[in-house]
Amino acid sequence: MDFTYAPAPESRSILDLKATYGLFIDGEFVDGHGTPFKTISPATEEVLAEVAEASDADVDAAVRAARRAHTRVWSRMPGSERAKYLYRIARIIQERSRELAVLESLDNGKPIKESRDVDVPIVAAHFFYYAGWADKLEHSGYGTTPLGVAGQIIPWNFPLLMLAWKIAPALACGNTVVLKPAETTPLTALLFAEICQQADLPPGVVNIVTGAGATGQALVAHGDVDKVAFTGSTAVGKAIARAVAGTSKKVTLELGGKAANIVFDDAPIDQAVEGIVNGIFFNQGHVCCAGSRLLVQESIAEELLAKLRTRMGTLRVGDPLDKNTDVGAINSAEQLQRIRELSDIGEQEGAGRWSPPCDLPERGFWFPPTIFTGVTQAHRIAREEIFGPVLSVLTFRTPSEAIEKANNTPYGLSAGVWTEKGSLILHVASRLQAGVVWANTFNKFDPTSPFGGYKESGQGREGGRHGLSAYLKGGDL
Ligand code: NAP
Ligand code: MG
Repeated sequence: MDFTYAPAPESRSILDLKATYGLFIDGEFVDGHGTPFKTISPATEEVLAEVAEASDADVDAAVRAARRAHTRVWSRMPGSERAKYLYRIARIIQERSRELAVLESLDNGKPIKESRDVDVPIVAAHFFYYAGWADKLEHSGYGTTPLGVAGQIIPWNFPLLMLAWKIAPALACGNTVVLKPAETTPLTALLFAEICQQADLPPGVVNIVTGAGATGQALVAHGDVDKVAFTGSTAVGKAIARAVAGTSKKVTLELGGKAANIVFDDAPIDQAVEGIVNGIFFNQGHVCCAGSRLLVQESIAEELLAKLRTRMGTLRVGDPLDKNTDVGAINSAEQLQRIRELSDIGEQEGAGRWSPPCDLPERGFWFPPTIFTGVTQAHRIAREEIFGPVLSVLTFRTPSEAIEKANNTPYGLSAGVWTEKGSLILHVASRLQAGVVWANTFNKFDPTSPFGGYKESGQGREGGRHGLSAYLKGGDL
């Protein structure tokens, strides 16, 4: 029988999208004093809403609100009481999970099956996990004294998940926060603000200031911020490190990556192919820890690449709200331009480019799943972060060559190792300069597990007990 593909779009009717959104300061939505900007759906270029831009004065108002809430309420509240708010927020996230997933997919372009099954459940899990720590900080190893007011800046690739990674541990430790989401994906942070209201979180504990880079800069520069937590590009991370140098502000930086996914000749090959696909095509490759360099042992390269091409041919690219979609839209025209440029450079440098045949929608920002073979260490596509659905394939002969190639990068966020031999996993993993090494799997995230980078991938850890160190005074002892 001939089965034809029928789209299965998730309904948008659950959303109560507003035409305009204000800033969330001191428990209320207020007008901004900057120039409002539009956020669009990158899959259709439809304008979703107009969002307030926080001026320097608005950022100041948010920091003041956070300071008041910290001094008068949040830092005085017993941990067991703070935990109740965090549990309540976690439960509301679960209750409103469909709404959050639909909004995330609309504003960001990621497939609904990822926002629904990965992002939002892990967001709730982070709040549950850190709620559990709030009254047990004396066992953290970092003391129980919060830093104060945290200024937090996040990127567009996992808007709600990065918000959870920042806000949940900060609040559990007794800090208050001012968070700036990315300009292209502000909407789920504003829905989260509504959730804070619904949870009766005391005003000023969480403040959301929307805007672009200048708003982030104002938050970093503010004199009454005790802590800056940033996730984003290495270039902006370096600028932030320079801006806080010489001040008493503490800083954590989660930056870029160029992870090696290393496949040895004894690896379960079909499982490895799934891991490679997940490693680079999950979230359109807009993943700081994406397995963007495939290092495959020479003896199995041909067989593995044939299977990978076949598997890539089955990926569905298209409407992020379609439940069948595997690869959604590229987040912005600027990001698409960057991916195109680097890919064209890969071709000019002599690497072999391949994508499966696929029809891309006419409107919106799209890039087909792509692999480059014959890549060498000197190629820019082997060294620079593409941050899109583009895989560079290199080969190796021995474990030491694989380790050397994997470490030959300024980054050090993550890596994958595929082999049946446990001893080889330990041998390789202990020599890789990467914050996270996955064995026979990839892109697994859990709130109990610390995540963070070596070298230019940043400093500090998020998640797990280690994640508390970023928000407690004893954290750098
Ligand atoms: P980005 O340009 O560095 O932006 C990140 C955030 O910083 C955004 O909210 C951005 O605002 C803001 N920003 C820009 N300039 C700033 C400045 N001078 N001062 C303060 N804030 C400023 O990064 P992106 O291109 O959006 O995000 C992708 C990058 O994030 C990739 O390199 C990726 O590897 C990295 N990333 C790392 C992790 C990790 O955990 N290590 C996780 C996710 C992403 P606007 O965007 O509104 O302009
Ligand atoms: Mg958007």
